[in-house]
Amino acid sequence: MNLQLKTNHIEIIKNHAKKTYPDECCGLILGYINNEYKIAVEIIPTENVWNTEKSNFTADQEDSTSRRYAISPQVMLQTQKEARNRNLNIIGIYHSHPDYPAIPSEWDRIYAWTEYSYVILSLQNAQAGKLQSWTLDDNHQFQAETIKLIKLANLS
Ligand SMILES: [Zn+2]
Repeated sequence: MNLQLKTNHIEIIKNHAKKTYPDECCGLILGYINNEYKIAVEIIPTENVWNTEKSNFTADQEDSTSRRYAISPQVMLQTQKEARNRNLNIIGIYHSHPDYPAIPSEWDRIYAWTEYSYVILSLQNAQAGKLQSWTLDDNHQFQAETIKLIKLANLS
C-alpha cells in the first residue's frame, strides 16, 4: 500500500521537526484507506512525552528525547475518538530523526504497529532532509513505502 500526502502535510511535519530540534518531534496522521492508498487528511502534531513515558519501556536504556519519542496514550485515544466522529482513522505516526538518517531504529521497529505508516523525517543541523515512510511486513520488518505527493495550489 502507498501513502498519499499533501505538500502542506509535509510542511507541517518539517516545521514541527525544526521547532523541536535537537529533540525528536512526533505526531499522528489522520486519514482513510481507499483501495491501494492510505490517504492522509490531517496531520496532528503531538507532544513528545518520552520523559514521562519511558518508565513504561523497561528494556530501554535510552534517556534522551533527541533519540526517542512517545505519544501519550490519552492523546492517542482522544485523537482516535475524534477521528472516528469524522469517519477518519489514525493511519500513521510521524517522527523526526535529528542528525540521523530517515531509517527506523530498532526501537522504532519493536514498538511499531502493523497497520500504521511510519513517516520519518531526517534533519541535519536543524535543516529538514529526507522524508521516508515505512510499514511493517508480515515478519515485523520495516519496508519502505512509496509516498504519493499531492501538490496544493498556494492560496495565500
Ligand atoms: Zn525513530
